[in-house]
Amino acid sequence: AIEVEHLTKTFGGGRSLLGRRRHEVHAVRDLSMGLARGETLAVVGESGSGKSTLARMLVGLEHPTSGRMMIAGKDATVLAKEGPKVFGQMIQYVFQDPVASLNPRKTIAQTLETPLKRLRGMGGPARAKRMRALLDAVQMPAEALERYPHEFSGGQAQRIAIARALAAEPEIIILDEPVSALDVSVQAQVLLLLERLKAEFSLSYLFISHDLAVVESISDRVAVMYRGELVEIGDAAGIFANPRHEYTRQLIASAP
Ligand code: ATP
Ligand code: MG
Repeated sequence: AIEVEHLTKTFGGGRSLLGRRRHEVHAVRDLSMGLARGETLAVVGESGSGKSTLARMLVGLEHPTSGRMMIAGKDATVLAKEGPKVFGQMIQYVFQDPVASLNPRKTIAQTLETPLKRLRGMGGPARAKRMRALLDAVQMPAEALERYPHEFSGGQAQRIAIARALAAEPEIIILDEPVSALDVSVQAQVLLLLERLKAEFSLSYLFISHDLAVVESISDRVAVMYRGELVEIGDAAGIFANPRHEYTRQLIASAP
């Protein structure tokens, strides 16, 4: 589970070398919310509303300007100090662009090997078996192991990126626009896959999207962000049936 309290991230500010004040961007402003165990919480909002900044803070890629993040009851900075192994087994991050997130010079076997070795301490035949099982879980053939990322379509590459996240056996996966780069028909397949994996691997999802239609079917609760602030949070059905904030109404009205 995740709890964030009064989380704020400001970029810029201060003065340039010439003494000019640099423009400040409040990417995330005083954000408090939680992700319960086993839940799918969607974070929606237009481009620039702070969704990825939130995700990047949660996985330690950005440091909050102020506020607190608790992961599995521990302060995230304390958890991070326990090392990448402890952290990686708790939380994994899947990016929007699967091709960019996979190392082009590594075969799929090498890509899956790293988390299995470093985070789970697996080697030998057990690891080889586990790699095939992971590919099977994301509906990819074992032949994929010897191939390179550029040999796959976007949807296939995203399945492999999801398999890599699963290799760590995390409790939580942060999905940052995981289907936005994919064709609509492929989007539906990957969404179905994500739902199945969630049950199979007892996962919690923080599902980031600018597209309400995408999250409607998959989320238990929806958090709406607008210009870095949380403007509304509640169960998905309630948000869609009875949006309270003007911006949420606009988002619903603009959904196809
Ligand atoms: P999108 O839907 O386009 O992915 P987002 O909701 O993920 O948008 P963020 O990427 O979190 O939005 O950006 C929020 C704000 O913070 C934007 O105004 C962005 O320009 C700014 N920002 C993000 N990262 C940085 C950075 N490293 N330096 C300066 N400003 C940044
Ligand atoms: Mg983003």
